[in-house]
Amino acid sequence: MTPADLAFDRQHIWHPYTSMTQPLPVYPVVSASGCELQLADGKALVDGMSSWWAAIHGYNHPRLNQAMKDQIDQMSHVMFGGITHPPAVALCRKLVAMTPENLECVFLADSGSVAVEVAMKMALQYWHAKGEPRQRFLTFRHGYHGDTFGAMSVCDPDNSMHSLWQGYLPEHLFAPAPNCRFGDEWDEMDIVPFARLMAAHRHEIAAIILEPIVQGAGGMRFYHPEWLKRIRRMCDREGILLIADEIATGFGRTGKLFACEHAGISPDILCLGKALTGGTMTLSATLTTRLVAETISDGEAGCFMHGPTFMGNPLACAVATESLALLEESHWKQQVSAMEQQLSAGLKPLLDSEQVADVRVLGAIGVVETHQPVNMAALQAFFVEQGVWIRPFGRLIYLMPPYVISHEQLAKLINAVALAVENPAFFKS
Ligand SMILES: *Cc1c(COP(=O)(O)O)cnc(C)c1O
Repeated sequence: MTPADLAFDRQHIWHPYTSMTQPLPVYPVVSASGCELQLADGKALVDGMSSWWAAIHGYNHPRLNQAMKDQIDQMSHVMFGGITHPPAVALCRKLVAMTPENLECVFLADSGSVAVEVAMKMALQYWHAKGEPRQRFLTFRHGYHGDTFGAMSVCDPDNSMHSLWQGYLPEHLFAPAPNCRFGDEWDEMDIVPFARLMAAHRHEIAAIILEPIVQGAGGMRFYHPEWLKRIRRMCDREGILLIADEIATGFGRTGKLFACEHAGISPDILCLGKALTGGTMTLSATLTTRLVAETISDGEAGCFMHGPTFMGNPLACAVATESLALLEESHWKQQVSAMEQQLSAGLKPLLDSEQVADVRVLGAIGVVETHQPVNMAALQAFFVEQGVWIRPFGRLIYLMPPYVISHEQLAKLINAVALAVENPAFFKS
């Protein structure tokens, strides 16, 4: 890439959550393979992000590439209205088999946010069809469910600036985020405000929506599995639907295939995305029960009211099926558990650093929370200099590398984080 390319980028191209007047530098990546990103200047970076939870098998995996090449020679895309195709059937068969038993009906969508829109729409249509329209969702603070308006309406109100959208976003119910952490002793009091809020609005709530065990982009917080057991029980008692957003946690990241397994519960609606295609293509899925699906279908609309243009894209389905096969054939459990041990051993000692407020590790996720927000541009440049790709935000420096990372590569990531927290220049005061 030439300097002119980069200048064009600065002038014309939005990046995620960026400013067009004060853009931060972007680093040109020209290729990636295994756990390394290749910069245009020839420098290689060890990847600590899996491209936002997605590239669990690393980059340029020969089997994923082959699956896509094979599918391209059949067809890259065909509409899903009135048509079905082998890649969609193969993928949905696998999803139905690997997710909890009660989840039988699959809606294929194009991104995580859309999977959440679909889940919320399913809940609304379900209650409408029951002749008891309900339009409110109950969730936690510090949640993250995506950037489209429905999804945003259940994200943390401060992080997603609900004040900016006031009057436009529907107003849902926000309970305090869980305080009782994963691995802590269960604290009965933790759930009281949530239970009260739920009881006060039990005839209005269509569904509870949450990220099981790990609150991701809204704060990287890990909470006690008892929360999920209690919420499942309360939902059953009131007939309220439970939506589990496993877009970040799904496919092994927390040490279980799905985070709901930590609590042995099953949701009424499940959202999957991110790692679904092994980080190669955009695809998501929303699964639900036969009961919810049939109730919706027997309602006034007579169908589920959603159908994206690129629904069930064959290329994405084919590579997703191969990615799930790879996962099943791999030793991901051992890999994730080895990563958990190495992350704990390497990051926990950073608690001694003055900058560090907290360190937490679960599965293949390591989080260092600092007292002060990071100076993004300076810290990013430092990490690149160190030969690692780590993208902190707010007061969070975190690692969630591909499962296939080597011990040496992970050590390099951990070492870079350890060096970073020693330097006050990387933190705003
Ligand atoms: C990333 C994420 C989403 C949104 O997915 P996109 O593909 O970015 O639209 C939704 N929910 C959770 C928990 C996520 O981590």
